[in-house]
Amino acid sequence: MSTKITEECINCGACEAECPNTAIYSGGTSYELNGQTHDALSNDFYYIVPEKCTECVGHFDQEQCAAVCPVDCCVPDPNNTETEDQLFAKAKKMNPDKNFGELDASNSHFRK
Ligand code: SF4
Ligand code: SF4
Repeated sequence: MSTKITEECINCGACEAECPNTAIYSGGTSYELNGQTHDALSNDFYYIVPEKCTECVGHFDQEQCAAVCPVDCCVPDPNNTETEDQLFAKAKKMNPDKNFGELDASNSHFRK
């Protein structure tokens, strides 16, 4: 399940640098996916590209955007549900140079 940013976002920008998959963009900024540039998904608030979000699986034990957001507006998106296996495969594909090792409680919220 991808994480999403709700309209409660105050555009503080704290989350963007924390994302290990470069899935977060400021409102109005076009995003990059597989070498192609796409129009922004929101013009008003920071947004998350579902195809790039892994719920931080493979990297951290919790969603980093949600951890730093001062208004708790980074929440699970029920319209983009994925299994841990699917999310881990996405993480590997997007970070081909990273040696992920095995999933455990330190790098998957599913294991906590
Ligand atoms: S949950 Fe993790 S991968 Fe997804 S947008 Fe937030 S920081 Fe990025
Ligand atoms: S940390 Fe929260 S409030 Fe700040 S830009 Fe990200 S989603 Fe918006």
